[in-house]
Amino acid sequence: MSSTEQSSAPNNFIRNRIRKEVESGQYDQIVTRFPPEPNGYLHIGHAKSIVLNFAMAAEFGGYTNLRFDDTNPAREEQRFIDAIKEDVSWLGYQWKNECHASDYFDTLYDYALHLIDNGLAYIDEQDGETIREQRGTLTEPGTESPFRDRPAAESRALFERMRAGELPDGAGVLRAKIDMAAPNINLRDPVIYRIRHQAHPRTGTDWCIYPSYDFAHGQSDAIEHITHSLCTLEFEDHRPLYDWLLEHLPVPSRPHQIEFARLNIDFTVLSKRRLTRLVEEGHVEGWDDPRMPTLAGIRRRGFTPQSIRNFCTEIGVTKSESVIPYSVLERNLRDDLNARAPRRMAVLRPLKLVLTNFPEGEVEWLQAANHPQNPDQGTRKVPMTREIWIEQDDFLEQAPRKFFRLKPGGEVRLRNAFIIKCDEVIKDAAGNVVELHCSFDPESRSGQPGADRKVKGTIHWVSAAHAVKTEVRLYDRLFRVPNPAADKNVDFVDHINPDSLEVLDSAMLEPGLDQAGHGACFQFERLGYFVPDPASRPDKPVFNQAVTLRDTWAKLEKAFSQ
Ligand code: ATP
Ligand code: MG
Repeated sequence: MSSTEQSSAPNNFIRNRIRKEVESGQYDQIVTRFPPEPNGYLHIGHAKSIVLNFAMAAEFGGYTNLRFDDTNPAREEQRFIDAIKEDVSWLGYQWKNECHASDYFDTLYDYALHLIDNGLAYIDEQDGETIREQRGTLTEPGTESPFRDRPAAESRALFERMRAGELPDGAGVLRAKIDMAAPNINLRDPVIYRIRHQAHPRTGTDWCIYPSYDFAHGQSDAIEHITHSLCTLEFEDHRPLYDWLLEHLPVPSRPHQIEFARLNIDFTVLSKRRLTRLVEEGHVEGWDDPRMPTLAGIRRRGFTPQSIRNFCTEIGVTKSESVIPYSVLERNLRDDLNARAPRRMAVLRPLKLVLTNFPEGEVEWLQAANHPQNPDQGTRKVPMTREIWIEQDDFLEQAPRKFFRLKPGGEVRLRNAFIIKCDEVIKDAAGNVVELHCSFDPESRSGQPGADRKVKGTIHWVSAAHAVKTEVRLYDRLFRVPNPAADKNVDFVDHINPDSLEVLDSAMLEPGLDQAGHGACFQFERLGYFVPDPASRPDKPVFNQAVTLRDTWAKLEKAFSQ
């Protein structure tokens, strides 16, 4: 991360708080963590948390750990751990330590015994249903379990038997003994350990009891000497429990939890549960489908790490929930790519155009700037021949007066070349336009006396003899409505946009683009930004449209928000 990137970040309540604490000498360094559960791929919402955690530590001279919150063996997999590491690295961040909540299972077990021995936890042998019913409601206090006041020695013996595998799943749970009448339901003797005879991806069959998220999280923070445990607002009500556990356990440090609003983006879903459904039910090709809001998906789509970091910085960090328009994400990509993507010519829906006064068999190599605003990117030669491809919608037979592209008898400039005039329109038996016959004005070439002659329109083109025939995939919003999960009575998958993917199988690209390596990105002039798909090969190129040149959605979104 560059230091200018950090210093351009606007202030927020977390940064202000940490700055004050650092200035008052409360901390020597700031240590944060990003704590994903390895049960799916990271999405753009996680990016907000990653950027915040890494930025705070870096800014105040500390570091960030990557901690896998792997306390639920049923849903966690090694492939998700690998994908998460790849995504965080790709975003541009280097964690100090790779940690796992499962690294602390021994310590957490000892902490549980500590609570038991101090009369602060007990084994409840009631079933889950009963425990849930006794929890009470927001207006009514909970009911104490008949096991609540059993002797500590009894709970210890049972807990040790649970750990030894002597009891089946569900035979008992360990609960913290806090207050069944607490207004905050999280404090009504929460379950902190469960029996689960299930192998764990990292600890194998060493354990058959697993700590709850709440019991593992704060203690893991303390073990790692995390100073600030930044998390999303839904954990605000868990903070009193987080603090209670830290106060009653012999932990090596005292972290503090601070909550911020999660990122929501319209026309998509940001929840692993829903994203998992999209993948498992085959609504998309996989976690890295370019329509997915996963980091793997938008990376394949062509998003750059810089554009995502810029986006996260722009949206800032607050305590109030909001929905960010998808177009804001796209604008950040456009801004980033506009500055650096080399320009190329490509025709997505080709129409044949014959230059009747261009000698047959001849090739004229024309000079083209790789980036008109950035001469450092140099120039390249593009071949002009008698037959070229132009975009179908750059020609209209019955054109309105303000149509400045090609029309019968009309003139247009070919980008990087010369002015042409449409002399003849060739149609098939069904009346479809199949070919245009045009003549070019040699005087309008660069360096010629007529080079400055003005016509209203300029269009792009590709030499038919040199064109690289390519599959191009165009993407649209994955959902048709701004908030697909809003209505509880409608399954969110029913809102999937059936036109979210359009495959063009005979796009024509400027020569050389078939050799574009993975990670390259181009502006196809007048069309948008495109990247080779990871599956693209020189003999069968495939390009993905990352984003269009202009925002066609901002207007729509404005209409929706009114
Ligand atoms: P999901 O809601 O998608 O299932 P999660 O919270 O279960 O996500 P975790 O792997 O537990 O996923 O999240 C890791 C971290 O990322 C947590 O600190 C969580 O608060 C944060 N996070 C998750 N989603 C968002 C979001 N939309 N915006 C900001 N931070 C998020
Ligand atoms: Mg979570």
